[in-house]
Amino acid sequence: MSFFKCRVLNISRLNRLNKIFLNSSMIVRHNFLVRNNFNTRLNIRTYISLKSIFSRQNSTLKPISITKPILSQDNLFHSLSESPFEDLRHRYKQICVYGSCPVCLSQDNEVKNKPKYECPDCGYPTHCSLEHYLQDKEQHKNSGTCSMLRLANEDEHDLRSGRTMIEFDFPSSQPLDEQVNMLNWDLFFYTRGFPSMDNDRSVRHVSKLLTYPITIASILHEYGPYNIKNRLTDEGLKSLTALRTIIYPKIISHDIKTQKPTEIIRIFVLGARAESLLPLHIYSQLSYLFPFTYFHIYFIGPESIPGNNKKFPTHSNYTPQLSFTWTTSFYHDYHDSLTPFDPYTDVFFLFSPGISQTNTWHDTIIKLLQTKCAIFITGFDQEDLHSEVSAIEEKGEKGEYELDWLLRPEEKKNQPYLATACVHTILSQ
Ligand SMILES: [Zn+2]
Ligand SMILES: [Zn+2]
Repeated sequence: MSFFKCRVLNISRLNRLNKIFLNSSMIVRHNFLVRNNFNTRLNIRTYISLKSIFSRQNSTLKPISITKPILSQDNLFHSLSESPFEDLRHRYKQICVYGSCPVCLSQDNEVKNKPKYECPDCGYPTHCSLEHYLQDKEQHKNSGTCSMLRLANEDEHDLRSGRTMIEFDFPSSQPLDEQVNMLNWDLFFYTRGFPSMDNDRSVRHVSKLLTYPITIASILHEYGPYNIKNRLTDEGLKSLTALRTIIYPKIISHDIKTQKPTEIIRIFVLGARAESLLPLHIYSQLSYLFPFTYFHIYFIGPESIPGNNKKFPTHSNYTPQLSFTWTTSFYHDYHDSLTPFDPYTDVFFLFSPGISQTNTWHDTIIKLLQTKCAIFITGFDQEDLHSEVSAIEEKGEKGEYELDWLLRPEEKKNQPYLATACVHTILSQ
């Protein structure tokens, strides 16, 4: 299953903002960004067909196949409309419906046609016609969009190629005496004991799967990359210190199996889309980094369950330390069922919410700020994140929101958790 979202056209999603009142005089807010590199120009967000790769029900990763590959490594590029894989052909149709032709978009008073013409170099439908493609060809190439889409195209076909994906042989629990370094993906993979990955494609595949849980982990972990010298504000330090009081209990059982949860960290993922469709064992990679912590992750939003599938589970006690709940409710309708909130145990994550593009997040943000819990927000890219920050600050200046920043946004595109599909950036003010 794969699908797209056309962000430019006022998709009804929003989020973002973070704040905390550890006491009545302190407010905090955080920002974070997620980006789909290769689709920036198209304003389309694509999701890998994760379900075609892994089964959510299984606790171990499965290679796509151990039989003869369907596609060889020198035959990974195919235009989407002529892909040997049905779901990628379906993706072509979805882009045709939800995408935008950049030339049409840039012209006033003209019909905005949908992209149907596939660029011969990247295989994606990028423009409405050959004429508009040729008109924009130089920009399409020079901006790097075409080369990124080409990589994405080959990545998608590689995932379905049938080769044995040894890079998905993920490690299990982390030895207590071995520290994880979360400064960047390479160090993380190395210190966590992932299989050695000697090419960028494997790194992209794995980081694409892990970008959501590890971004969450990088914020919460005591040895994460963010500290008072690196973008964390005084208020942010107080917020994370509160959460870490529970995440790292002072008294722990010598036998984890006999340990009983005293407190559960509730992670609320609002406006969940791809993050709610990940196989659950991917989130075990978050859990392994906190061996004494109990997590309950809530995926909230109308797109958190694909196709509003009635058979889709709404709750799972996946492991003794990791539970999940899914709901298609809008957060502002679901909020009351989650009370009371506690900044020591509750935290919100809003991945690329699109707050600046719609007003539909307003009621949610008001409720989030009332909880006094930390809120982390991401964007598709720095431009997107800055527009989100501006939208929030504008409301703050009008007195509609009262908040403080917890984590300063980053000016340079140098964030540690960068994947091909998603870049999580913490924006600076
Ligand atoms: Zn056009
Ligand atoms: Zn192209």
